[in-house]
Amino acid sequence: MTSPVRPCAGRARAACQDADPGLFFPIVWDDQAGQRAEQARSICRACPVQAICLDWALRTGEPDGMWGGTTPEERRRIRTRQAQATA
Ligand code: SF4
Repeated sequence: MTSPVRPCAGRARAACQDADPGLFFPIVWDDQAGQRAEQARSICRACPVQAICLDWALRTGEPDGMWGGTTPEERRRIRTRQAQATA
């Protein structure tokens, strides 16, 4: 199984290209979810397009998965702070 195609990154540049997609889009929420999120976050930290990926996910309101090293809940908090800063 291959990693999901990231519209924000050329597949050749995305660090998650060959990673387990289950790390980035977990299907099962069990007691390993935090560990998987940390594994995905570690891959994102080494990704050359992390900033682009996160920016894309924030601008599009991507509701699922790990993008740019952030979980959906983390992106919701970032978007809330951004909205408050511009209000
Ligand atoms: S930042 Fe993370 S999710 Fe985004 S392309 Fe890079 S490795 Fe994949």
